[in-house]
Amino acid sequence: HQDLLSSFRTKPSVGRDGRSYQIMANINSVEEAGMAAEIGADGIGLFRTEFLFLERTKIPSEEEQFQAYLQVSELMKDKPVTIRTLDVGGDKPISYLHLPVEANPYLGYRAIRYGLEHPGEFKIQLRAILRAGAQHRNLSIMIPFITSVEEVRKTKELVEECKKELREQGIAFDENCRLGIMIETPSAALMARELAQEVSFFSIGTNDLTQYVLSCDRSNASVAGIYSAFQPAVLRAIGMTIEAANEAGIEVSMCGEAAASAPMIAILSGWGLTRLSVGLNSVWYVRERVTNVTKEEGQQLARKVSVARTHQEVMDIVKNKK
Ligand code: PEP
Ligand code: MG
Repeated sequence: HQDLLSSFRTKPSVGRDGRSYQIMANINSVEEAGMAAEIGADGIGLFRTEFLFLERTKIPSEEEQFQAYLQVSELMKDKPVTIRTLDVGGDKPISYLHLPVEANPYLGYRAIRYGLEHPGEFKIQLRAILRAGAQHRNLSIMIPFITSVEEVRKTKELVEECKKELREQGIAFDENCRLGIMIETPSAALMARELAQEVSFFSIGTNDLTQYVLSCDRSNASVAGIYSAFQPAVLRAIGMTIEAANEAGIEVSMCGEAAASAPMIAILSGWGLTRLSVGLNSVWYVRERVTNVTKEEGQQLARKVSVARTHQEVMDIVKNKK
């Protein structure tokens, strides 16, 4: 089977109806960017930069981060790379940042909330990304765990400050570096229309979106039976997000685990989402899957699941379709 799949390394990501897709990779390191290039991914849809911050004693300097992002930019060359800013907290602790001990870390001081309270540290990362994109202009900035328009506006102000400083210092950077956000909280999905006016792209993070829409800890085995991106409430949040992005004419992709699931790919195709970012091991599989999808079949499936009332109904619909 793997031999068969490996033939998808060089095949274009095109659906049975001729629509083109982008099947990108999620990566945690520069080494993995090399692997993504090797397997023929159409880009990097999610670079989880927290891994640059782990197993150290202090924050990586602007130069260290710049070098890492530059290497990823060069490895991918003409393909897009989405660099997610530090997603600390929740399930991702970093000891030297001295985060407070919290009763509910998933609902606490994490990701962009930490970044905006520490603008000095946050700007080091923003500057490093802006600079690293100067040559190939293929890097975008993505902000995790957004819950409000204010957070996006504050982030944009910091990006503008960084650009102004770099300009004054005569340091090269990508003036047109795009800024996007993760849609991974219920508030972001509910405000998707307004948020779409602020940014260049959305990336739907189903791992957290599922957790927060269902109020169901993604790492707690006792509630694993509830945790599913195919719960009608989660599908509705995903549908709303895609609709808002399409209406505003901004790009939308999915980078959570669910993006590698065959029935999800078909539903998304029906909703008009054709950019998927998945683990390195799933890139060929997903490319093979999209070659089997037509927009019309996807739309039929999407119509049926959008009126399903229970998880069981959704699963019955997608199983018949698979
Ligand atoms: C997500 O939440 O779906 C996501 C892609 O990010 P992470 O798994 O790193 O939280
Ligand atoms: Mg997440």
